[in-house]
Amino acid sequence: MTAGVKRWGWSPRIAVAVHRFAMTVMTPVTLLTSKVALPYRANRMLIDSHCHFDFAPFCDDPEHYLALARQAGVEKIVIPAVGQRNWQVLRDLSVRFPCLYYGLGLHPFFSAEHDANALQQLASALAAEAVLREKSVSRCVAVGECGLDFAIVNADRDQQISLLAAQLQLANRFELPVILHCRKAFPELFGVLRQNRPIAGGVYHGFSGSHQQAKQLIDLGIKIGVGGTITYRRANKTRNTIAALPLDALLLETDAPDMPVAGFQGEPNRPDRLVNVLGELAAIRTESEQEIKQVISLTTAELFRIPM
Ligand SMILES: [Zn+2]
Repeated sequence: MTAGVKRWGWSPRIAVAVHRFAMTVMTPVTLLTSKVALPYRANRMLIDSHCHFDFAPFCDDPEHYLALARQAGVEKIVIPAVGQRNWQVLRDLSVRFPCLYYGLGLHPFFSAEHDANALQQLASALAAEAVLREKSVSRCVAVGECGLDFAIVNADRDQQISLLAAQLQLANRFELPVILHCRKAFPELFGVLRQNRPIAGGVYHGFSGSHQQAKQLIDLGIKIGVGGTITYRRANKTRNTIAALPLDALLLETDAPDMPVAGFQGEPNRPDRLVNVLGELAAIRTESEQEIKQVISLTTAELFRIPM
């Protein structure tokens, strides 16, 4: 900066102001992520790492909901798949709207829908995406959403476990991160993850567990998806856990149209409400909202290899 003052003849006051601004923007990210430079857009871009944007009400008027998201600063969205029935829908949406990215996978909640060929078809779909990725035209950034859902009545646990293991292996074969869903099945999920460690990492979406569980996931290279749960004061355990985790282990998500944030219960959640989650995260952590936004934007872009 000093050289700059001489070369460009800035007055010291301006130079100090510019330096302060640069340090405010650069220091947290440089320190926390050890990155050399902060992409300018990381300063203002938010990515919703988990939003079912192909569901109603979004599919009825995607332009409207994307405009709302953009106004709130949410510029990119990752849409997880639920099964074969929405893979093509997600591809088409991402062609229509370049701010949309997607995962391909078999959601455990819809296990009954996944037929015997589902895994083979997933492998073929991912192979086709890999060819497109070579040409930098694939918008498939993950395998998922996959996982275990033992909260389903009469869940076929063995089928879910083998589907998850196979999808983790596919993620490794195609070097993609995984988007994980888990309800009432943490020990089982963790066991499958340990045996099929995701080489390109992943995210455990909608986290609401203990500090020890978060730590176990982080040690396996899995990020923690922070959603609407923390906007409810009664979710003390989750709030305390997330407040104490390393900032670069966190992603932000809405899970819209599910998981409404506090104050909006009873209506579909929306991707623009990611800012409510961000605001609450800033309220329970020591870093500033700006710093949190910068670090999480970079972490998300890095995990899903989304250009900034
Ligand atoms: Zn989901």
